[in-house]
Amino acid sequence: MQIPGPNDPTVVPRKNMARADGKRSLIGLSKVQLRAALIEIGVPEKQAGMRSGQVWHWLYHRGVTQIAAMANISKDMRELLDQHFVVGRPEVVTAQVSSDGTRKWLLRFDDGEEAECVFIPDAWRGTLCVSSQVGCTLNCRFCFTGTMKLVRNLTAAEIVGQVMLARDALGEWPGAAPVAITRPAASDGADDEDEEEDSPWVPGAHNPGSNYTSEGRMLTNIVMMGMGEPLYNFENVRDALAIVMDGEGLGLSKRRITLSTSGVVPMMARAGAEIGVNLAVSLHAVTKEIRDEIVPINKKYGIEELLTACSEYPGANNARRITFEYVMLAGKNDSDHDAHELVRLIRKYRLPAKVNLIPFNPWPGSIYECSSDARIRAFSDIIFEAGISAPVRRPRGRDIMAACGQLKSASEKISRAELDKRAAEKEENWV
Ligand code: SAH
Ligand code: SF4
Repeated sequence: MQIPGPNDPTVVPRKNMARADGKRSLIGLSKVQLRAALIEIGVPEKQAGMRSGQVWHWLYHRGVTQIAAMANISKDMRELLDQHFVVGRPEVVTAQVSSDGTRKWLLRFDDGEEAECVFIPDAWRGTLCVSSQVGCTLNCRFCFTGTMKLVRNLTAAEIVGQVMLARDALGEWPGAAPVAITRPAASDGADDEDEEEDSPWVPGAHNPGSNYTSEGRMLTNIVMMGMGEPLYNFENVRDALAIVMDGEGLGLSKRRITLSTSGVVPMMARAGAEIGVNLAVSLHAVTKEIRDEIVPINKKYGIEELLTACSEYPGANNARRITFEYVMLAGKNDSDHDAHELVRLIRKYRLPAKVNLIPFNPWPGSIYECSSDARIRAFSDIIFEAGISAPVRRPRGRDIMAACGQLKSASEKISRAELDKRAAEKEENWV
């Protein structure tokens, strides 16, 4: 496991590595990488382009989970592929369904590390909230993920794997029925280990014979808002989203994908140029004092720098506004004055913006309280009256700890004192 060095937490690359059995995951390789990988295992160069196109189609249009299911590839070729590769899906450790229909999966990767992924169905769309890291190097004071000690970046394969797995579960491959990997949440929201053993995940109930269509899909949007800071895992997030957006890959439009950052300013221009999806920024406070406290990366990249980077974000315009996320913490960042200041800042930097007000989601050991409904409404009204949209995000999946900021993969119970100690250690490491 690689843990970020003291000076720059961005350099934690983790490539699409071989597994213990020496095989590599086919998922997560770009078309160019896939072609090169086929040549490496002995596929003649003349054939490699055609073969990689076929494999790509089976992976992303048909959703097969076994090389053996790639029907139009010769048996010899499939055997060769089988010696060196697996299709590669994360293992589902637990699957829960909230009373509001939100689903959460705890996923385990080849090295045993775990991360969570959440599907939020709505009337007109279905949003998958995808993780980019195991844990997070940052330590926003209101975020459960930020209390995790260990962290590594997810590979492109592991990031794309979350989307593939959600499609498995939702039955969104051609001709597929939903795969039974969900179960009702225990009434207290806790995991029920016995029940999990009774219903293991069975991958791949696919029928590759039918036609591919994107009509009527449940999974329509992706937000990089799960565990971790996506811009501290830039290359892997970029490569994974390239596959998600590729018309011959998973085929989701960049307008339906949003990347949320806590404010990694030096990476924002590259995110605009090389990924190009919608941008959400976790602003959460309008003064240095409060943002330093609740979003500590602010000590490194302050509000002015952050808003300047937003104003330079390519593609941001009135049709494609930047979303400012603002968690509502009682008595901390929720005064009328804060709301007016937020409007002033958005105007000062001439930002095509909307504000997403997020009621604080509590977690064991959290030290904040959510602002009252009346306070949130008053805050929202001030911003609306200034002509800036400021909807209040309805909390989803709270009963299964799937709401914003409630994701955490290690089930360790830790004291407030230990949380503070970890926070101090993390800050020493990177500020
Ligand atoms: N690391 C990225 C994306 C993941 S968090 C980021 O920080 O932007 C997704 C959103 O949930 C962020 O805006 C984050 O600040 C917010 N969030 C974190 N903890 C929360 C909590 N307990 N209640 C409400 N929102 C929270
Ligand atoms: Fe990390 Fe985002 Fe949580 Fe902050 S809010 S600790 S950046 S996951």
